[in-house]
Amino acid sequence: MGIKVDNVSFTYAKNTPFQKQALKNIELEIQNGELWLFIGHTGSGKSTLINTFNGLIFPEEGDIYIDDVSIKDKKKDIREIRKKIGIIFQYPETQFFLPTVNEEFEYAPKNFNVEYNLEKTKEYMDILSLPHNYLERSPFNLSGGEMRKVAIISVLSYDPDFIIFDEPTVGLDYKTRKSVFKMVKELKNRGKTLILATHWINEFVELKPKVLMLKGGDIAFKGEFDDFISLNIEELENAGIILDKKLELYRKALLKNEIDLANKIASI
Ligand code: ADP
Repeated sequence: MGIKVDNVSFTYAKNTPFQKQALKNIELEIQNGELWLFIGHTGSGKSTLINTFNGLIFPEEGDIYIDDVSIKDKKKDIREIRKKIGIIFQYPETQFFLPTVNEEFEYAPKNFNVEYNLEKTKEYMDILSLPHNYLERSPFNLSGGEMRKVAIISVLSYDPDFIIFDEPTVGLDYKTRKSVFKMVKELKNRGKTLILATHWINEFVELKPKVLMLKGGDIAFKGEFDDFISLNIEELENAGIILDKKLELYRKALLKNEIDLANKIASI
């Protein structure tokens, strides 16, 4: 059970002068409960791959299986698949359309015929440091960071099993970024399957995520975090990864095969 990407290719604007192959024969298996980081330069194919997971983009070749159900299976209701997948798109706050925050939260559960759990919503608000009295406020009169928090909770509110964040911290200040990462860690602890397209890998060292690195629509790396971080430094930089001091020390310890030291650094 999980997400299986079986030999998926996708080309935008096929058979036009603007034709662009965004994914090339991608193979990937994500098991339930795992955290994956999708890495790669802008234009490497991360968003395109993410958008295949709920049928927003249909792979022209290959198939996607969500808990063993093919996304191309015409007999299945695509809504049943979409209900399992929560995607927090880039700049999700542009999609608000209801007068209060609480109505934004209630919308998706209603749409998917899932019971809305206000208590759980309040827990999420606590994790993201969003005061409960914001429920009655207009989502349009919030700061950028608060809007992002509301947008995240409005996806979590229908309790999807697979939660996908596409560059969730773009444009956020340090404090808001930290609370988004806290939410990711909390969701991981709660057993959710998580995918993050991100350049911010420093936050996740102690969670030992799996990593998929894309380059021009191809898989450039797929595997364990420690193997990824041990790659040639130019390769990491080419993928837009900037190591902070802690991750630099962690990497050095790994390269010297000082595993105990590496684990100690990770836990700080
Ligand atoms: P990433 O998420 O890694 O930045 P994308 O999946 O957005 O990468 O893009 C992969 C490639 O597909 C890029 O070359 C991009 O220009 C192209 N692309 C993305 N969306 C479209 C679109 N709607 N029409 C045409 N080409 C697109």
